[in-house]
Amino acid sequence: MELKLYDTLTREKRVFKPLDPANVRMYVCGPTVYDFAHIGNARPVIVFDVLFRLLRHLYGVDHVTYVRNITDVDDKINARAAEEYPGLPLNAAIRKVTEKTDKQFHEDVAALGCLPPTVEPRATEHIAEMKTLIERLVASGNAYVAEDNVLFSVPSMHDYGRLSKKPLDELIAGARVEVAPYKRDARDFVLWKPSKPGEPAWPSPAGISAPGRPGWHIECSAMSWKYLGETFDIHGGGIDLVFPHHEDEIAQSRCAFHTPVMANFWMHNGFLQVEGEKMSKSAGNFVTIRELLRGWKGHAWPGSAIRWAMLQTHYRQPIDWNIEMISRSANELLGLLNRLRAGFRAQGLVDFDQLRNALRDRKPSKEVLSTLMDDLNSPEATAAVRAHKSWNIEETIRCAADLTFLGVLKDSDIRYFAAFHAISSDVENSDKMMGLATDYQVARANNDPLFAASVLSQFDNLGLKIVEKESSLLVISKKSDNSNFDESVQRLIEERAKARVAKNWTESDRIRDELAKMGVVLKDTKDGTTWEIAR
Ligand code: AMP
Ligand code: ZN
Repeated sequence: MELKLYDTLTREKRVFKPLDPANVRMYVCGPTVYDFAHIGNARPVIVFDVLFRLLRHLYGVDHVTYVRNITDVDDKINARAAEEYPGLPLNAAIRKVTEKTDKQFHEDVAALGCLPPTVEPRATEHIAEMKTLIERLVASGNAYVAEDNVLFSVPSMHDYGRLSKKPLDELIAGARVEVAPYKRDARDFVLWKPSKPGEPAWPSPAGISAPGRPGWHIECSAMSWKYLGETFDIHGGGIDLVFPHHEDEIAQSRCAFHTPVMANFWMHNGFLQVEGEKMSKSAGNFVTIRELLRGWKGHAWPGSAIRWAMLQTHYRQPIDWNIEMISRSANELLGLLNRLRAGFRAQGLVDFDQLRNALRDRKPSKEVLSTLMDDLNSPEATAAVRAHKSWNIEETIRCAADLTFLGVLKDSDIRYFAAFHAISSDVENSDKMMGLATDYQVARANNDPLFAASVLSQFDNLGLKIVEKESSLLVISKKSDNSNFDESVQRLIEERAKARVAKNWTESDRIRDELAKMGVVLKDTKDGTTWEIAR
């Protein structure tokens, strides 16, 4: 079986042969961090995570280097920083915005089952490499200085434009919209530009005395060079990046290194639109990953269901994100997970470690693998998973292994299968109840509403309810028990206080024991008695 991938540059599907099988190298353009990532941004992250998993499977976990950058220097970041932190100096405000957004992005894509890339370089930490590239391009006559800018000279590269295949007159017409007077050719693009007062600024290259900052395209040429070398295997991103971003990356890297190609395969995911239209705040159809996870159209959508929904469309096709498609996917996945759980229980596989061990080192099925080898045909791969008909232990484990390989089944789900058995086999055991409560908290911390909802529904089935008092405190009580748990605890604490005043130690100890049975631990302080749920 050979891996075939579609290459945007040659417009053909070809057999993939890495330059070095001991180190397969892939670069994907990452997010610009100034706000919550939207569901369109999630698409390349999921698509290339599937490819990353496939490459790790084919060449070995330690033989794939996946680089996804973080763009943390950009006009939109500056504008957001000034708006959100008007009292702070701009650079401090920018740091706050990028750190916060970066953290949110990582939480969101982890909930979508994406592995962290091997390296996640930040643009602002690679200014030196960008300057080296710019100096080289000036020295080779591929770039020039004009009014404190450094511009790439498009006519200096005889085969500029091969990726986007835009005709020359269209390129010129496009670039003419607003041509800076200092450009020698309308198509020339910025490598470095002077910073406005207050903006992030670094000492400039190429003998320019005014401080400046890099253009967007040079970032990716510099960071891919640093971590992957002058030429590497795969370069990816959304289809919107073909022109000008990737076209210009190619121009910079090939001219700086005198190489015939920058990457051997250029892969682009199709665009995602929401409810039939391009996402936009004014159209009211802008949706972030976080909104989907927390609640969109009346439901908190599990990260695994969002991923499952995304995999239903081939990566090069456009997707229309709407309530029908996500509902269908979420229901289908829940059905599959329930059958898995039932399959495991029927075979007495009920303990988390047991389940984990059964799945350890399991390879994906030939069917799933062969569909992915054909230019990541994920819709066919999900169809192969769906086609599991019999639920004997072998098939159940095979299905779980396929879902794990696709990044849809996570440890938290497997813990849930185990926890469900534990609680249903012994409802009275409060240790086990607390175990389930722990699972609930794990689910919340992992931003995994599917898991959380499942745990809640198990409590519900058992006639129990779980109430979140504070973020770190959960109270479990009988659903039928109308008296409020907190109130009962408070009442018992007051009775105990009275007993203590009356020096009735037997009674106060009895009440302490009764509370302990309810899972409540008391703490006597000088300001009175506080309580918490035993852990
Ligand atoms: P940005 O932060 O806009 O630079 O985008 C980060 C990544 O998300 C790039 O690879 C984009 O091509 C991709 N992307 C942005 N919007 C969409 C969308 N609506 N559909 C698919 N991919 C997108
Ligand atoms: Zn890029």
